[in-house]
Formats: sequence, C-alpha cells, structure tokens
Amino acid sequence: MTSLTASHAADLVAALLFILSLAGLSQHRTSRAGVVYGIAGMVLALVATVVVAAQSITAGAVALIVLAMALGAAIGLWRARRVEMTQMPELIAVLHSFVGLAAVLVGWNSYLEVEAHGTAQTRIGADLLGIHHAEVFIGIFIGAVTFTGSIVAFLKLSARIESRPLMLPGKNALNLGALGAFVALTVWFTISPDLPLMIAVTALALALGWHLVASIGGGDMPVVVSMLNSYSGWAAAAAGFLLDNNLLIVTGALVGSSGAYLSYIMCKAMNRSFISVIAGGFGIEAPTGGGEEQGEHREVRAAEAAEMLARARSVIITPGYGMAVAQAQHPVAELTRQLRERGVEVRFGVHPVAGRLPGHMNVLLAEAKVPYDIVLEMDEINDDFADTSVVLVIGANDTVNPAATEDPASPIAGMPVLRVWEAEQVIVFKRSMASGYAGVQNPLFFRGNNGMLFGDAKQSVEEILRELGTNGGQGAAPAARQTTVAGR
Ligand code: NDP
Repeated sequence: MTSLTASHAADLVAALLFILSLAGLSQHRTSRAGVVYGIAGMVLALVATVVVAAQSITAGAVALIVLAMALGAAIGLWRARRVEMTQMPELIAVLHSFVGLAAVLVGWNSYLEVEAHGTAQTRIGADLLGIHHAEVFIGIFIGAVTFTGSIVAFLKLSARIESRPLMLPGKNALNLGALGAFVALTVWFTISPDLPLMIAVTALALALGWHLVASIGGGDMPVVVSMLNSYSGWAAAAAGFLLDNNLLIVTGALVGSSGAYLSYIMCKAMNRSFISVIAGGFGIEAPTGGGEEQGEHREVRAAEAAEMLARARSVIITPGYGMAVAQAQHPVAELTRQLRERGVEVRFGVHPVAGRLPGHMNVLLAEAKVPYDIVLEMDEINDDFADTSVVLVIGANDTVNPAATEDPASPIAGMPVLRVWEAEQVIVFKRSMASGYAGVQNPLFFRGNNGMLFGDAKQSVEEILRELGTNGGQGAAPAARQTTVAGR
C-alpha cells in the first residue's frame, strides 16, 4: 500500500469516526463515546495529514508544523482546564473566530501563491483558474464573516458589550447591499483577479460579519452561536478545497450542516424565523418593551420555601443560567433526592435555550447524577405546570418570562417559555431583581403566587436542605415577608 492510499484510507476512517461522534453526541447516554470517537478521528486526521505533507516538504517545515501543533495543543489544554462551565459559550465563539481567520489566511495564501508562481507550482490547471479564484473569494468571504461575527458573539456573551441589537438605519438594505456587492465582486474577480478586489472582499466580509451579529438581540444569540458554528464548518470546507484536502472538506461539511440543522431546530423551538436570524434580524423591528416594568414583589426565606416543599405533592424545577453560575446543581440534585424519598413527585423542565449553550442544563444535571427520566423538555412538561404544587425557578429568567406570550411589544415576544406561573406556588431563586440575558424585566416576579428567594442559588438550596433536615420543613418559623416596590 502506498503512503497516499494509506492516507486516503485514514481519511475515510477519520470521516466515519466524525460521523459516529456526531451520532454519539446527540444523546446523553452516548455522549462520552461521541467525544472519544471525535478525539480518535482528529488524532488520525492530524497524523495522516502530517505524514503525507512530510513527503513533499523539507524536514525543517515538518518540524515547524509539529512545533505549531504542540504549541496549539498546550494552549488548548491550558485553556480547557481553566475555563469555567459558564464561560464555555464565549470560548466556543473565540474558537469559531480562529477557524474563520484560518480560512481567510488560507485564501490569501492561495491567491498570493498563484500570483507569485502562476499555476506552475500549484496543483491548479490553467483551465481551472477561474474556479480557483471563485473558491478563494468565497473562502475568504465565509471566513471573514465568521471571524468578526464570532468576535462580536464573544464580546456579547462575555458581557463586554451590550447584548441589545444594534439598529442602524436601513440595516436590512445594508446587509442585502453587502451580499449583492459580494456576488458582483466575485464575478469581477474571476475575470480579473486583482489585489484591490481581494482587499475589498475581505473588508466587506469583515464589516458584514460584525454587523450581522451586532444586529441580533440577546434572546436570539443562541441561534447565532450555532449559526457561527455552522459558518466555521463551511469556512473549513472552503479551506479544504483550496488546500486540496478531502478530509477537511468532509469535516467542514459535517460541522456546517449539523450546525445549520441545530440552528433550524433552535429557531423552531424559539418560534423565530431561520432566514430572519441568519440575515442579521431581517424584518425584526427595534423592540419597544424593556426592563422598565415596576410592581410589587413578595420575598420568601429558605425556611418558608422548605415548608412549602415539605407539603408539596408535586414539584417542578426549572433551572437556568444562574444555576450554572452558582454551581447549584449538586445541592439541587440532593434536594431532589430528599423530596422524592418523602414521596414528592419531582421533575425538571428544561427550556431549549436555558443557560448559555444548547444542552447546558442537561450537562449540569447529568454531572450531578439527576436521573435522566425526570428531566423533561419544555414541550413535554409545559401542560403539567397547572397541576403542580410548587415550581422552583433556579436562576432562570428569560426562559420563564410570561411577557414572551403576553406582551407583543416585548423583545422576546413569541418565544415559547416554560409556563411556570400556572403552578400553585412559584419560588424564584436569584440574587436581585435584575433582568436576564435579554435585558427584559420579568412580570412573573410580581405575580401573587410568586415568591422571590434572594441570594446565591447554591447557598439558598443548601439552606433549604438544612431546614428540611432540622425540622423536616414542618412548622418552620414564618418567613419574613417583605413587600417592596421594585424596578430593575
Ligand atoms: P437568564 O440569563 O435569562 O437569567 C439568569 C438569571 O440568573 C439572572 O436573572 C440572574 O439574576 C440569575 N443568577 C445569576 N447568577 C446567580 C446566582 N449565583 N444565584 C442565583 N441566581 C443567579 O437565564 P435563562 O437560562 O432563563 O435564559 C437564557 C438566556 O440566555 C436566554 O435569553 C437565551 O436566549 C440566552 N442565551 C442562551 C444560549 C444557549 O445556547 N442556551 C446562548 C446565548 C444566549 P441575578 O443577577 O439577580 O442573580
């Protein structure tokens, strides 16, 4: 077997491992195996690529590649070990930006290589030059949009810039104009591949990527993150065409199509138009509602919450981003265990965009060993709230906001939410009256059947556990009730 055939065989096995990885990652039970398949496929792909490259480049160049890989792996391991679970989405956004930047650099390199040497030292036949130019242009365009789009996503997710949508006058016309200009420039470039056109398309795509993501409001960010994941896949596939690397094309297409499908599912779950979101909020008007609402809220203490839980027949827990911040999943799992031992029916209702990553809450609950069969999706549990004694909202806000269904002017209007307010009693665990990620005040906090349990969610749940342990939650001292007027 020649080394080229061996490398093609390795590519094929690696591609199969990536497909198995995606299949594994689609379910809790098989997700660890999915990660192992993915790692195995990537190791195989890297080794095969370096072995093949080693045959046509100098030993010094191979040493440089290995050095770059070792350096990258060391930085990757260092970051992955230090990153908090709550910072994962921003880390992923940064990693997407690297893929985009790599695609831009590959495109530029490919262009300069052909400019410097003609087609003589490349694999491109003179008759295919036009196609090559189009590939360069498209690769740079997708890569640059992914690069700046991911940087804006990183800035928004890490709260370095506001999550509110940027509403430039004529923003839809700007986006459509940029797309039209890209098509015209591509045609021009295939006819006359000049440097100024390369500079123009790079600048245009960088600006478009920035604007597309800046125009998306807080509530739609989950879709944007998975959309950027998809774009980074297509950028990698475009780089694969330029580098004549079949595995990169296949891998990029797998990431691109699975990311696009995830975005589509998320749009459906969020009742958002897929086209509108990928087109930078096309057709979405500036929201008029916001965080101004005021009202009266009732405060409850841990002792009162323990009392309610001890008397409850059924409890639903709806976790959100605050559970991840507080790392409250372990005491929440312990509370679940104790209540179930007392004969209380306990289930979890997980919103598709709760937290800051698709599946964020499921990962935390699985880590705390909450049984899978009591963790239900929004559609599976939404009709059961009306027949529930107590709902514990642990650090969730936007995903339980009734304004989404009741206020057409709200920025999150139309987004399906967990209808927690239909239960007999609701207890919201959070530290203040602050709004959630979308920056919208939550009328749930001011409803008659709602009590606010202020403080860090982990400490509050641990306090409830202590109350349940000391006096079984029965006859706990009446909680200090406060009625306050609150804004944001
Ligand atoms: P939200 O972001 O709406 O609200 C989280 C709440 O947690 C805050 O109101 C905060 O209030 C509270 N909180 C924070 N820290 C603590 C703590 N230590 N203890 C107790 N409470 C705490 O969360 P949801 O999960 O309900 O909604 C997710 C939002 O994120 C949606 O808008 C979604 O669109 C967006 N998003 C989701 C992504 C995804 O893929 N899942 C990706 C990007 C964005 P306080 O400060 O008062 O404590």
